[in-house]
Amino acid sequence: LEIDLTGFDGVVVSPGVPINRHPIADKARAAGVPLIGDIELFAEARADLPPHKIVGITGTNGKSTTTALVTHMLKTAGVPALMGGNIGLPILAQDPLPEGGVYVLELSSYQIDLTYTLDCDVAVLLNITPDHLDRYDGFAGYATSKARLFSMQSDGHVAVVATEDDATRAIFDTLSVGAPVRVGRGDISGDDQAGWPTLQGPHNAQNAAAAIAVCRALGLSEDAIAAGLRSYPGLPHRMERVAERGGVLFVNDSKATNAESTAPALAAYPKIRWILGGRAKTDDLDACAPHFGHVRSAYTIGEAGAMFAALLAPHMPVVESGTLGAAVKAAANDAEAGDVVLLSPACASFDQFRDYEARGDAFRAAVGAL
Ligand code: ADP
Repeated sequence: LEIDLTGFDGVVVSPGVPINRHPIADKARAAGVPLIGDIELFAEARADLPPHKIVGITGTNGKSTTTALVTHMLKTAGVPALMGGNIGLPILAQDPLPEGGVYVLELSSYQIDLTYTLDCDVAVLLNITPDHLDRYDGFAGYATSKARLFSMQSDGHVAVVATEDDATRAIFDTLSVGAPVRVGRGDISGDDQAGWPTLQGPHNAQNAAAAIAVCRALGLSEDAIAAGLRSYPGLPHRMERVAERGGVLFVNDSKATNAESTAPALAAYPKIRWILGGRAKTDDLDACAPHFGHVRSAYTIGEAGAMFAALLAPHMPVVESGTLGAAVKAAANDAEAGDVVLLSPACASFDQFRDYEARGDAFRAAVGAL
């Protein structure tokens, strides 16, 4: 903050810096210097790269899944592709693709806020629900940030929008350039989805619909698209199938750290032994309630264990297991062929684990030890 910014081309900040209230923002504005991020540096370097295309993917939920899925579908079809942005290695840490390659970028709204010239060949918006409101001037400000991905596109480039909430529908209606494509979970038939083992649940129908539209826009054949959907391996800790034992499937959804992100996992399977708990973010499970009928029994762990047990007891049998290891043992013991033992905690992990990844790894190890 003490440096004289006169004459600088930009200030590169991490997307984690809250530029709505950090003093660097006023200081840069006063000096007429833009705040930019690594995605903008990448955009400005594109002219020096072999001819390529860019896919940018944003939304409140499903970004990582859709980004990894599109990248997988392209690679399966023989197109050189890599993913970057908010997933895996930073884009500037990776080697450039050969001619004809496709860079698939997961973009958080924070990254879009630091980007001015990224002209995506295909830009995707999955959904917008309230999130990160500490960084924006209300919900409208958050939605406006996401919409900027489209305003950076030039004519003829493609916009793909899942128009399944009010905010995305409003943005779709304002799109003036490009060829807007409307997608949604209704585009996906149950029969098709049944053939995609790692893309179960209504939320993944939305992700798949968007990914299919992207691949069509990039010229992939229907056969190549179908092959990619069938063979997508899935991301770790997101409804990840870790084992099958005596007809019982074990699923690790440790990334679901709040009730909203657990809800789709409960919707995805009809007969669930549900392991949940940890450090609660809220004192209710309202978002999950519509799917309680899918749960045969629940096993609570961690700080929230007693509170969740009290909430769930009127609706289903509940065991207060305390630890993940005990919960896995009890759930596996109760499970019958056709059941799914699901870790989808609806809580942060920090009371018992370093992070959600350590919690998912512990689940996998406990299942392995059965
Ligand atoms: P992100 O990268 O946007 O955080 P992920 O693909 O990592 O999204 O998914 C995180 C969690 O959000 C998943 O465990 C799932 O429960 C939920 N989710 C995934 N896709 C969607 C979607 N399209 N709509 C709503 N929730 C979703």
